[in-house]
Amino acid sequence: MHELSISISLVEQALAIMQKEGDKRARRMTLEVGAFSGISIEALHFCFPEATKGTALENCHLIIKQIPLCIYCPTCKKEVILKDPFIMCSHCHEVQVEVIRGKEFNLLSMEVE
Ligand SMILES: [Zn+2]
Repeated sequence: MHELSISISLVEQALAIMQKEGDKRARRMTLEVGAFSGISIEALHFCFPEATKGTALENCHLIIKQIPLCIYCPTCKKEVILKDPFIMCSHCHEVQVEVIRGKEFNLLSMEVE
């Protein structure tokens, strides 16, 4: 599963930060995930506890902020938030649009001790 390997690299990334800072345990981790990142939030919630087993991140609470898909339409000359993961202006159906937000996958913050 795609999200399991994402979870594992996320845990590795977090562990590297914690090791540097001398933190023993992570209680909470906040991520931002774009609606067009290709990552399923549901699957991530499912895989994350698996990836943290036996590490300093075990039982760490995962909080995911979803970023909606937002495009700029040159025809409408405005930013449009899309509900569907199709890159097309929902007003004029223009396809030559620019994705502004929605591809994010970032570790925002961690609560450690
Ligand atoms: Zn448009």
